[in-house]
Amino acid sequence: MKPPPRHVAAAQGDEAGRPGEAGRADGRADGRADGRAAGPVVIGLELGATRLRSVVTAGDGSVLASGLRHTGAAKGPDAVVELLLDHAAELTRRHAPSAVGLALPGTVAEATGTCVHATALGWRGVPVRHWLAEELGLPVAVGHEAGAGALAEGLARARRPHHPPVFVSVGTAVGAAVVRPGRADGPGHVVDLGHLRAEAGGGPCACGATGCLETVVSDRGVSRAYHRATGEARVPAAEVRRRAAAGDRAAARVCTRAVESLAAALGPGLAMLAPERLVVGGEWASAGGAHTDALRAALSRRLPFGRTPLVRPARLGRRAGVLGAALLARRRLAAAGPVRAQPPPRGGTTAAG
Ligand SMILES: [Zn+2]
Repeated sequence: MKPPPRHVAAAQGDEAGRPGEAGRADGRADGRADGRAAGPVVIGLELGATRLRSVVTAGDGSVLASGLRHTGAAKGPDAVVELLLDHAAELTRRHAPSAVGLALPGTVAEATGTCVHATALGWRGVPVRHWLAEELGLPVAVGHEAGAGALAEGLARARRPHHPPVFVSVGTAVGAAVVRPGRADGPGHVVDLGHLRAEAGGGPCACGATGCLETVVSDRGVSRAYHRATGEARVPAAEVRRRAAAGDRAAARVCTRAVESLAAALGPGLAMLAPERLVVGGEWASAGGAHTDALRAALSRRLPFGRTPLVRPARLGRRAGVLGAALLARRRLAAAGPVRAQPPPRGGTTAAG
């Protein structure tokens, strides 16, 4: 995939810093002054197939602004890159951050910042960190959304350092990571689970295989399965889950299939690690108690007696991933040493490297 032709982004259209679905996390005013007083401002971005979330955080971790944009992945992988670069540039102009972190739904080579593949975005071998760094003139960190979420949850669970939960992120993609409570240097092992074989003879996956977990469990997989079952198109996964909880039988069957597949994929890892808790993030963080209870029940049928973890939504809710992306940026700054002066935002970068 070639980098898209760049242009000078115009600060127009919907506001990069407009309140997202959750609005401001802490009710503080949007602005630079208080953030700078507390330390370097960083930006976190979480890119999914349907949404691009952003947060701007101050040095003390408080959220100065948050935003939400539609990704429009259907427009193609180049359009998604273009949107990402434009949005990051716009936020950089508005908030003058010292670094940017990006959480992605797919396999990421963190050392190089390359997205190895993210089927939901149509990305394969995309050097996204390099392109963002060229675009913004800033240090950039890139990681898997599950690792980012686990990083944020780990800091939110610093009081229980001896009980590391496992974090599973379910949304555009499916991934898992071992949380390391109180550790800012990152989660434990991070795995992209989306392309484990979940169903023999299952439907085709964008990766080229069939029956992948992502085709069954991801938001897109749930929405498509509901479409196949009912003929009703474009019902978001969150709505399918809501309908299932409200008694819609077709929705319930779709959700049960997803839960059983997820439990089957997680079972062996959980049997080995035996965590007290399984923390669910991604869009699933807001799925509701009926779905987390169903997941625990499905796990209990697969795990040895007494080894089934409690299943709980992420403390940070749906925002664990994007807040974790901001932490990736902060970790990158710490690794890079002293912060250099804020460079001017790009002008007509071609991202040709
Ligand atoms: Zn696949």
